[in-house]
Amino acid sequence: MIRTAYAVIHLKSIRHNVQQVRLAAPHSKIMAVIKANAYGHGLLRVAQALNDSVDGFAVARVQEGIRLRKAGFQHRIVVLEGFTKTEEVQNLLHYDLEASIHSPHQIEILRHQQEKKRLGIWIKLDTGMNRLGFKARDVRNVCEQLNTFSVVKKPFNFMTHFANADDKNDLKTSQQIELFNILTADFDGEKSMANSAGILAWKDSLTDWVRAGIMLYGISPFSDSTGKDLGLRPLMSLHSRLISVRDVAAGETVGYSGTWTSPVSTKLGVVAIGYGDGYPRYAESGTPVLVNGERVPLVGRVSMDMITVDLGINSNAKAGDGVILWGDNLPVEEIALCSNTIPYTLVCGITPRVEIVESKNIDPIF
Ligand SMILES: *Cc1c(COP(=O)(O)O)cnc(C)c1O
Repeated sequence: MIRTAYAVIHLKSIRHNVQQVRLAAPHSKIMAVIKANAYGHGLLRVAQALNDSVDGFAVARVQEGIRLRKAGFQHRIVVLEGFTKTEEVQNLLHYDLEASIHSPHQIEILRHQQEKKRLGIWIKLDTGMNRLGFKARDVRNVCEQLNTFSVVKKPFNFMTHFANADDKNDLKTSQQIELFNILTADFDGEKSMANSAGILAWKDSLTDWVRAGIMLYGISPFSDSTGKDLGLRPLMSLHSRLISVRDVAAGETVGYSGTWTSPVSTKLGVVAIGYGDGYPRYAESGTPVLVNGERVPLVGRVSMDMITVDLGINSNAKAGDGVILWGDNLPVEEIALCSNTIPYTLVCGITPRVEIVESKNIDPIF
């Protein structure tokens, strides 16, 4: 079978990116955040590639943790959203997964556990995100209760999550760090604050564990830089090909609603990629696309299966030629900016129609 739309996962790059995390946080253990199918790159594939180079894994849901255990991974695995039901606690215990504890509802569930096994927990403190976690005034009370529960492994651990760490000038992050340090000072147990932005920009946030997500995939957590600028290597590239090349005259419109009008006569290329593959529907006219390695602009609306690009009147491109939507020489960060989104959503949003290929399985022509 010939591939149409496919994503190449350059697994070697992830080892390099882990090294960059180690350099930035030399005294911390690394929890690799591989939730949401490893940000679209494939849960087990990425876990395997990271196997002996990280200290633990973090996922969002219990089910994701179970998949890792069933595949044989023996690392510590933290479930960042914790649990909401007793059955989930039983699964966490059975599969030796650790849970974030962020709400009174969870404390009530733990209060009634009769299990002999011990659950590793991370108490989530809300230091300013206002999403999950306990407020400063509740910390002492929460810890006192959890201390009396035999199902809870002691000492328990603490974490918090930053709201604005991608803005290097926002003092909110310093305040979150300070509050977390004050609230946890009297407790043993491990502590964790930093996501990728924290690892790279907020050295005070580097504690026992860092939680590296987006930077492992070679993508910058900041809107003013690319992964490459930060010494990272992108893990994913997205590919397809031209399925048609045609002439249009000056003044003709292209695509649904005719949102783009050609100012001159030119050649248009039609690329087999669309929002049905996870290419962003809101990519604006002008978003760069690589056709045979040359940058050309997307023109008109993105449709489900296709986009159109302005190849220029002198182009020699023809149907069947290779196209890169993002990758080594076309940062996904740039495509995100052109689509009014963040690169996280683009890599997470690749749909099952897109074939995933590991780079060791393809010719090195990319
Ligand atoms: C997703 C997530 C991370 C990783 O964030 P990145 O910005 O991808 O590094 C860290 N901690 C928590 C709680 C998360 O939900």
